[in-house]
Amino acid sequence: MTLRALHLLGSPVLRQPSAEVARVDDEVRTLVKDLFDTMHAAKGIGLAANQVGLARRVAVVEADEHDQLILINPVLVEKKGSVKGEEGCLSIPELFGDVERATSVVVETTDLTGQRIRVEAEGLKARAIQHEIDHLDGIIFLDRLSPLKRRLLLRKWQKERKGDTSVIKEVTAATVEE
Ligand code: ZN
Repeated sequence: MTLRALHLLGSPVLRQPSAEVARVDDEVRTLVKDLFDTMHAAKGIGLAANQVGLARRVAVVEADEHDQLILINPVLVEKKGSVKGEEGCLSIPELFGDVERATSVVVETTDLTGQRIRVEAEGLKARAIQHEIDHLDGIIFLDRLSPLKRRLLLRKWQKERKGDTSVIKEVTAATVEE
């Protein structure tokens, strides 16, 4: 098991649009496995490659235990409805805000064998997919809040960091997000 360090708000790679994956090779398969391991250790339900410092269009989602979705060059091909719900992000620990998202989505993605497949999702899974695809475009959920709410949360974030400006956080098997 390899846990990768998380990049936090302030790290430039989170703001960089990620590059398409040309080919699903062993390096990509290892990255996917490491993303799942790191996400589990950090107790998240989704994680994008740029959150571990790699600007590539790869992310993982596990909104329900044992329902693992791999996103490689994902494209939203259908969006239905609209619903507000609370989101957090492993790159901005302990900050939460209500974000409006499509209720259900159809995403086209590449699987680990290199095949393009379509996956339908609703509820929390649909929300997580939209959140992760945003990451690949350099967007974080704070960008989708009202300017006032965003300012309040950023102030809270700075206060909790107590002057700490580091943007890399090591993840260990014992890391608990409480
Ligand atoms: Zn996130």
